[in-house]
Amino acid sequence: MTATVVEGKALASALREKVAAAVAAAGIEPTLAVVLAQGEEGAAAYTRSLAKAGGKVGLRVDVHEREPRVEEAASLLAELNADPSVHGIILQTPFAGREGDAELAELIALAKDVDGQSSASLGLVWAGRPRFVPSTAAAAIHLLEANGVEFVGAEATVVGRSPVVGKPAAALLVARHATVTICHTRTRDLAAACRRADILVAAAGAPELIKGEMIKPGAAVIDCGYNFTEDGRVVGDVAFEEAAEVASLLTPAQGGVGPVTTALLLMHVARAAGAEIAA
Ligand code: NAP
Repeated sequence: MTATVVEGKALASALREKVAAAVAAAGIEPTLAVVLAQGEEGAAAYTRSLAKAGGKVGLRVDVHEREPRVEEAASLLAELNADPSVHGIILQTPFAGREGDAELAELIALAKDVDGQSSASLGLVWAGRPRFVPSTAAAAIHLLEANGVEFVGAEATVVGRSPVVGKPAAALLVARHATVTICHTRTRDLAAACRRADILVAAAGAPELIKGEMIKPGAAVIDCGYNFTEDGRVVGDVAFEEAAEVASLLTPAQGGVGPVTTALLLMHVARAAGAEIAA
């Protein structure tokens, strides 16, 4: 193995300590409202873990579970936007299918959009004036920065163009002066685009799509993918064992980007409530 396998746990723990200290110093109780579609066990489990992690750093996480209907979610979002005791809001879908859910995300007030789910938030990220960056994209960049990866002039490839991971990750890389290629299902030669990357961010949701032979020797590889195999294992978008033979830095599917994502989301909530936390 040539790659340094970068676990997110230590970084996440350092971020949570910062949040806890800032919240205690400010004497506030930052509150996150989670709008959760009923019957989504995966989202419910994530929400429980968020509430537990939040509790440890002085944050309150209120879960508002509703029937998966647009009207239910829309009226709740209006209430939460107007409620001064709520500092951050996240929408855990599906309420209305892909398009409908995207429309619902537009209803989150910009100042409370702590996971950057609305197009207004994403627009600010591309404009280079981010308010809240989607936490998974922010985590990918944070892991690269924390490990001293050089962005300026680097070739970076992002696999995936979703508004929550691929697009904001690409915007953050451009802002750091990397030259960025964004790939998706219509990309003609994914292997070639990956192979020229000094920095490769995988966010496709496609199990082990990126093989070792598609990775440039010495590349820094961040795997945002979190996929379940038929036999119940969790794998990333990158074939881990093969990639570890080629890359210089690699995150595992479990315990890599995930813990940092959660810690950064909590940090965003604390900031939305007025806590001052240095980058
Ligand atoms: P998504 O909305 O489904 O988007 C996937 C993107 O990847 C799309 O742009 C799609 O292209 C592209 N893609 C899919 N298969 C591809 C292929 N074979 N070749 C090239 N491009 C391909 O997914 P997402 O929400 O961005 O999530 C991506 C992954 O990150 C998932 O595994 C998800 O579980 C994980 N994730 C992890 C965390 C965390 O905290 N660890 C948080 C969020 C997401 P088209 O646009 O052409 O369809």
